[in-house]
Amino acid sequence: MRIFSGIQPTGRKHLGNYIGAITQYVAGQDRGDAVYCIVDLHAITVAFDPRELRERTYDTAAVLIAAGLDPERCILFRQSDVVEHTELSWLLASVTRYGDLTRMHQFKDKSAGQRDLVSAGLFFYPVLMAADVLAYRTNEVPVGDDQRQHVELMREIARSFNARFGEILVVPEHRIPAVGARIMDLQSPESKMSTTAASEEGTVYVLDEPERIERKFKRAVTDSGEGVRRSPDKPGITNLIDILAVVRGVGPSEIEAEFADARYGEFKSEVAAAVVGYLAPTRERYAELRPDVERLESILRDGAERARAVASETLADVREAMGVGPPGRGVGTPR
Ligand code: ATP
Ligand code: MG
Repeated sequence: MRIFSGIQPTGRKHLGNYIGAITQYVAGQDRGDAVYCIVDLHAITVAFDPRELRERTYDTAAVLIAAGLDPERCILFRQSDVVEHTELSWLLASVTRYGDLTRMHQFKDKSAGQRDLVSAGLFFYPVLMAADVLAYRTNEVPVGDDQRQHVELMREIARSFNARFGEILVVPEHRIPAVGARIMDLQSPESKMSTTAASEEGTVYVLDEPERIERKFKRAVTDSGEGVRRSPDKPGITNLIDILAVVRGVGPSEIEAEFADARYGEFKSEVAAAVVGYLAPTRERYAELRPDVERLESILRDGAERARAVASETLADVREAMGVGPPGRGVGTPR
């Protein structure tokens, strides 16, 4: 079984990324043939600083390895190193419905947040993401809840492609965790914790110092009522319950039962302490790994080579099926 997912090298990765995606990436290494990609070509669809892009890519690679990705047991690479992604995205664009792209929530949310430029790249993002996943004939895509619609679209793209050109692509399934798939901003618990649209105080970064984490949880917005229980009118408390449940590896109802009589203040301290302990090993390993840029670069380079071996076969089959380029180069076709 092939598992594939991508993560952006924008800004600093946060607790939502960690719970919704990164811990699933780590587990994926034991469940199948796991491929993970640092998607620098997605990061450039919103405002970014070219001087920082490479550094943030190393940051992200180091966080992933610190969290438990093992380059011996998975493929970890940088998207722009495997040019097959961009070519495939163009080929897939020909079976992507324009009207479907206009319905994507992420485009609506992110374009509203851009001050200078709403790029065509931001609009086209889901097609590149479809190419990322479909290039590896992926069965399963571990993502947070915000990516549900994009995975639905790539399934549609794969089905349309296959219906028109033959059974070439695998239609992937998403893998979205039952709890923790949408960690909310601690300051505005009605929006998801986000890398680009973040409030500094509402976002817990994987690399935050323990005191910062404690302060952020202490100031987390809750309702003025009482009762540590999940409810649609208590988004702040519900979020904290979910976080503690994931960190402790139990169900949210166990947390509700344990803290039924607790005050909000006590409960927040408990969550803060648990999160500090949860992230500490990753933060410590990151500090050891991050300075060795040569090693990180060599891991990414090696990953790209292994990734390209897979992606280039899919691309050859797609070109062959579509009649693009010289004949007979498809892997499934005798040369
Ligand atoms: P941006 O808001 O700029 O898109 P991001 O925080 O979503 O950044 P990405 O690199 O786009 O970061 O996402 C990486 C993975 O983290 C994706 O699988 C995404 O679904 C997941 N993810 C992002 N935010 C959350 C969240 N708040 N809770 C759970 N999972 C999340
Ligand atoms: Mg995102």
